[in-house]
Amino acid sequence: MIADLHVHTDFCDGRDSAEDMVLSAISKGVGKLGLVVHSYVPFDPESCVQLDRVEDYLYEISILKEKYKDKIELLCGIEADYYSPQDTSPFDYVIGSVHYLYIDGKYKAIDDQPYMLGEMIEQDFGGSFYACAEEYFATVAKLADKKPDFIGHFDLIKKFSRAFPFDPENQRYRDAWMIAADALLQLKVPFEINTGGINRGWTDEPYPSAEILEYITKNGGKTVYASDAHRKEDIARGFGG
Ligand SMILES: [Zn+2]
Ligand SMILES: [Zn+2]
Repeated sequence: MIADLHVHTDFCDGRDSAEDMVLSAISKGVGKLGLVVHSYVPFDPESCVQLDRVEDYLYEISILKEKYKDKIELLCGIEADYYSPQDTSPFDYVIGSVHYLYIDGKYKAIDDQPYMLGEMIEQDFGGSFYACAEEYFATVAKLADKKPDFIGHFDLIKKFSRAFPFDPENQRYRDAWMIAADALLQLKVPFEINTGGINRGWTDEPYPSAEILEYITKNGGKTVYASDAHRKEDIARGFGG
């Protein structure tokens, strides 16, 4: 059975309605679909669910669960950013993700636009991508705080590697991700194989990269496929390839 537990709707920054996503998933033969909102972050309100829409979201998904129960199993999830203050308890499950770094009192997105990452590397990390990656993975290592059911896009920091090429075998980079992987392996929750970067043309391989994935599975980590679709045509895209 095809399961895709990470798709977004127009309740946050997805393009399509929840029902359109469900209908598309059914037409693709998906048996289990997780509809997810980006958790509320006050410092980047356009990207996430608004707190006054959370009740509507929970209600909408509960209606769709019932309406399509003979065709597909639906789950109502939240992608909890490490720096989000939102209560995750009303949701069926939690994806733990890092999208921002906290530097000198400011939250800065790592995955918004290449130029924004470039500015951060220059201004806050002395021009060193590796120093930035160390801060990113140090934050990822703390995702246990979010009590995640699985780990979202583990090495998202590589998203703009075409604009900011780096050596994935650099020792600083490897040490940084390994510390985070070791910390999260203790949680015994799956890591996503997230095809969102490929589907949107940013990366050539999923999150995490082959080397990291091998390390995770060798050390007993489980995985789960996730498209991170923000439009219906990307549901379950790139799975199993
Ligand atoms: Zn994410
Ligand atoms: Zn997502």
